[in-house]
Amino acid sequence: MDVVVVGSVNADLVVKVERRPAPGETVMGSDLDTFPGGKGANQAVAAARLGADVALLARTGTDQYGTRLVAGLAAEGVSVEHVVESEGASGVALITVDADGDNSIIVSPGANARLTPADVAAAADLLGGAAVVSLMLEIPLETVTAAARAARRAVLNASPPRPLPRELLALADPLVVNEHEAAFLLGSEGDPAGMARALLALGPRSVVITLGAEGAVVAESSDAARPVHVDGSPDRVSSGDLPDHASLGPRGASSDSASSDLASGARGPSGRADGVVVTVVPSPVVDAVDTTGAGDAFTGALAWRLALGDTLPEAAALAVKVGAAAVRREGAQSSYPRMEEL
Ligand code: ADP
Repeated sequence: MDVVVVGSVNADLVVKVERRPAPGETVMGSDLDTFPGGKGANQAVAAARLGADVALLARTGTDQYGTRLVAGLAAEGVSVEHVVESEGASGVALITVDADGDNSIIVSPGANARLTPADVAAAADLLGGAAVVSLMLEIPLETVTAAARAARRAVLNASPPRPLPRELLALADPLVVNEHEAAFLLGSEGDPAGMARALLALGPRSVVITLGAEGAVVAESSDAARPVHVDGSPDRVSSGDLPDHASLGPRGASSDSASSDLASGARGPSGRADGVVVTVVPSPVVDAVDTTGAGDAFTGALAWRLALGDTLPEAAALAVKVGAAAVRREGAQSSYPRMEEL
């Protein structure tokens, strides 16, 4: 396997609204749409669509959703041998999408809460044999930590935001968060490059912050960072596909310089003075219709490219394209692109 995802499977129940109700208020929405979702299943499908060999370790319930969700994953080419059916409700996400295309989500974990470290131990060979194990926080934290321990390389999308055990953080390579999740972990907001550096200082081996329409920022220690591969060999990001990297200066670079680098995609001097390399990876400009699952698409694509041997900036260069493609259509998995589309 290129990638084993250990994570959640949900039914996404989606209603469009002009605006969300205030407490005690009722508003009318669109017809209900039901989509396959869950951050784990989303990552797995995102990677499978791109051509990855991917397996999912997960639990679904015995309700109307479980069987359909597993059948859908298998039809996408995800190996579901390690998706276990357990008594009770499946995971469900209640999603509203507003007139601006922004989503808000309530997750009822159902069977996802019953995925245990014992399930991880039972799949030790599968995890140990995968180039990358990809994780998120919609399953119990002790299960995430057990999976990270068993992994050769653990990609951790720390979403939805929860305080992270130090051991788990130290195993993340990279820790992937959006700006809200970064601010949650840091306890304060800042410019993207500064936040990426501050997150790296918390202990993960590397960091990616996704920035919505602005793409992503990558932080690695200069020991870990390899030169970006530009020979255009077929299983790599070719030089023509590489983003305009902007390696920002050492700590102390102002948010102004960070955002102007973001806007221009300018190549700057490598920011190695404090032993940290920060790379900005701009996203393609698209009309956003529905951002549901964009971060999962990004993470699934990133995990796959890392499994193939890309550097972190190379992998992020493909992942921002996958994320941007995903926001152009409704739903989560239903919006994910195939390689040809990119
Ligand atoms: P999350 O879905 O976790 O909140 P983001 O909103 O940062 O994460 O989106 C993840 C990735 O999806 C971004 O890095 C970017 O590549 C892409 N993306 C998200 N929103 C847009 C947008 N409006 N335009 C272009 N790309 C987008």
